Amino acid sequence: MDVSTDGPVLVTGATGYVAGWLVKDLLEAGVTVHAAVRDPGAAAKLEHLVRIADKAPGSIRFFETDLLQPGSYTEAMAGCSVVFHTASPFAISVRDPRRELIDPAVTGTRNVLESAAATASVTRVVVTSSCAAIYTDAIDCARAPGGVLTEDIWNTTASLSYQPYSYSKTLAEKAAWKIADAQDRFRLVTINPSLVIGPALSDAPTSESFRIVRQMGDGTLRQGAPKLGLGVVDVRDVASAHLAAGFREDAEGRHIVSGHNTNLLELGKVLIEKYGSRYPVPRKSLPKWVVWLAGPVMSGISRKFVTNNVDVTWRADNSRSKSALGMTYRPMKASMEDMFQQMIDAGAFGK
Ligand code: NAP
Repeated sequence: MDVSTDGPVLVTGATGYVAGWLVKDLLEAGVTVHAAVRDPGAAAKLEHLVRIADKAPGSIRFFETDLLQPGSYTEAMAGCSVVFHTASPFAISVRDPRRELIDPAVTGTRNVLESAAATASVTRVVVTSSCAAIYTDAIDCARAPGGVLTEDIWNTTASLSYQPYSYSKTLAEKAAWKIADAQDRFRLVTINPSLVIGPALSDAPTSESFRIVRQMGDGTLRQGAPKLGLGVVDVRDVASAHLAAGFREDAEGRHIVSGHNTNLLELGKVLIEKYGSRYPVPRKSLPKWVVWLAGPVMSGISRKFVTNNVDVTWRADNSRSKSALGMTYRPMKASMEDMFQQMIDAGAFGK
């Protein structure tokens, strides 16, 4: 695949976990990256990107933007052929889901895509959506044709009061398609990753992915982990998918980008071989009734969530990402070991 270095490209949310690897790939391919960030003065959050740019053939320019400010992305987008829109809050525990999740996800997507539709140079927009725009609970797989999630399916079960993050991603992707379908300047391609795992480029990642994997070593799952059905994908593979979506001539539509159909226990068990003697990684299955009883008290997860996800198989079809974007996927064990080692080195589990 040829990565065009003719003009700059825009990456929104460039400070993020997923965006970091995308920016790295772009810089290493010689591209000029317009990095849209909330606070260009927050040197610590940008340091890793500057360091990568210093060693790479491409270059980086930072632009101050906010998802909620109309017209905020116009300057950063000027002259760009491709827009990668990754910025969106990824958090599970929030107090005010409308303000913290829905508004930035949906208003932000409208803001970025409406600017793209009004910017002469833009020919392609890649939106980082999510498998969360396809399903809420693993039990939704059972309702899918053949028990497998595909790009034809939309999430119909999330709401403001139940799994609002999934709701925010669903509404945001729908808003993106509505704007894209009403114009003919750019083509929209969406990347729909499952749970992203693997190492971060920044020293202080804030993505929800880290909170989930940290539990594998901090003792939370010492007694076992529930077999909570989910999909996972390496962050470096997600970056490759974005690159293909941005630069492959024929890329179009939605893409499930997920390396493995698995569950929380299996995700933890791949750490046993290398780390099992030193860290309290989960080894056995926590029975559903225990999680059902204790979940709401211990970790704030609802009984509805337990019923719909624990001991429920998660299956998604990633074949479109392979045929249309040329994806290959890293083994889950390698991704988890790289991520876990990084947490150990950063002192996440004490010295
Ligand atoms: P992350 O590290 O928390 O990155 C989120 C990014 O969004 C940050 O750069 C953040 O900027 C930006 N952002 C949030 N609210 C903003 C606002 N109001 N205005 C401007 N920027 C704002 O999380 P991530 O995991 O990399 O997520 C990146 C994208 O991937 C999201 O669209 C997420 O939904 C999607 N995704 C993630 C996963 C996963 O498992 N991690 C799976 C599927 C899809 P600041 O640095 O300024 O806060």
